[in-house]
Amino acid sequence: MVSLDVFAAEKLEAAAARSLLRHLPDPAGAGINFCSNDYLGLSQDPRLAAAARAALGLHGTGAGASRLVTGNHRPYMECEAALAALKSTEAALVFGSGYLANIGTIPALVGPGDMIVADALSHACMISGARLSGAEVMLFRHNDAGHLGELLRTYRTAFRHCLVLTEGVFSMDGDLAPLAAIAAQARVHDAWLMVDDAHGLGVVGEGRGAAHAAGVVPDIQMGTFSKAVGSYGGYVAGSRPVIEMLVNRARSLVFSTGLPPAVVAATAAGLGIIASDRALCARPLALASLFCRMADLPAPASAIVPVLLDEAAAALEASRVLEAQGFLVRAIRPPTVPEGTARLRITFCANQKEEDVMRLATAVRALRPRAGGPCA
Ligand SMILES: *Cc1c(COP(=O)(O)O)cnc(C)c1O
Repeated sequence: MVSLDVFAAEKLEAAAARSLLRHLPDPAGAGINFCSNDYLGLSQDPRLAAAARAALGLHGTGAGASRLVTGNHRPYMECEAALAALKSTEAALVFGSGYLANIGTIPALVGPGDMIVADALSHACMISGARLSGAEVMLFRHNDAGHLGELLRTYRTAFRHCLVLTEGVFSMDGDLAPLAAIAAQARVHDAWLMVDDAHGLGVVGEGRGAAHAAGVVPDIQMGTFSKAVGSYGGYVAGSRPVIEMLVNRARSLVFSTGLPPAVVAATAAGLGIIASDRALCARPLALASLFCRMADLPAPASAIVPVLLDEAAAALEASRVLEAQGFLVRAIRPPTVPEGTARLRITFCANQKEEDVMRLATAVRALRPRAGGPCA
C-alpha cells in the first residue's frame, strides 16, 4: 500500500476498535424516521416544491456567481425580508449553509486581541469559526451563566472585544440555553451575544426560535434553513450595520457562490408557513412531550430527546434493537458528543403519528436507559 493508504487504514482501524467508525448509510433508511431534523415535514411539502419549481423556471439551476457579483437573485431579497420579520430584526443575510454562516461570521466579528467565551457544548462549526478567528477561546460550563460571568469578570478587561457564543436549543441534548441570564452577563461585561438557533426556528417560541421564547434579542441570531424550514442554507439576522458589515467581511459569503435561487425560493415559502401556522410549529414539542411521558423521561424543551447509553457500543446496539422493531434512530457517538455520553438522539417531527410515538416509547423503556439530559 502507498503511505497515504496505510495512514487511512490505521485511522479507520483505531476508530473501529472504539466502536466509533462511521459509514454513510443506505439512502432510504429502513423504518419510521425518528432522527430527522425536518421537524415540520416541510422538505416534503408541495408548497415548497412549487416555489422551487417556479424559481427554477425564472432563474435556472445555479446562482452563477457570488452574490456580490451577479448571483444576487430576487428570491434572496424575499427570503431575507421574511426572516428579518420572523426574527424582529432590521436585516438578515442568507449564507450557503449554517456551517458557512458560522465560519464566516465569527471571524468577521472578532480576531487576535479579542476573546470568545462559548458554551462547552457549542456545535462543531461555532468552534471552527472561533478557531479561525484567531481570538482567545474560552469555554463556560454548559448552560452555566454564573460560570460565564466568572470568566468575563476575570478576563474581559484584558481583551478589546468579546463575543459570547451559545446555541438556543442544544442539538444533541434538546435543552434550551438560559438566554435571559446569558444576555444579562453579556450586557454587564460589554460583550456581544451570538446565538446559533439551528434547532429552535420553527419549533420553539411559536416557531420564532429560542431568543423569542426567552424574550431577548441577541446581537447576532444565526441558524439554518436545512432543519425545520425543510430547505437548505444558513442565515444571520441582526441590525442593519451588522448585516452590512458581514456583506463586506464574511469570507464565506464574499468568496463563495450564492445558493441556487430555487433553493432560496423554497426557503422563503417555508418561512411563510412557519410565520403563519402556529399549530404546525407546536406539534413536534407536543409529540416529544407525549413520548417522554410514556417513556418515563424528563419533560422535553424541544423536538430533541436524548436517551443516554453512555458507551458507543451500547448506543449502536440500542439503535439496532429499535431498527429491528421498525424505528430509524441513529446512535450518536464521540466526537459529536463528549466521551462516555453516547446516546440515541430521538427527534419528533410534525408528520409522525401518535401511535408510532407511543410504540417507540414502549420500545425505549425496554432498553432501560439512564434518564436523558445534558451532560457537560
Ligand atoms: C446543523 C447545525 C449547524 C449547521 O447547519 P447546516 O446548514 O447543516 O450547515 C449549525 N449549528 C447547529 C447547532 C446545527 O445543529
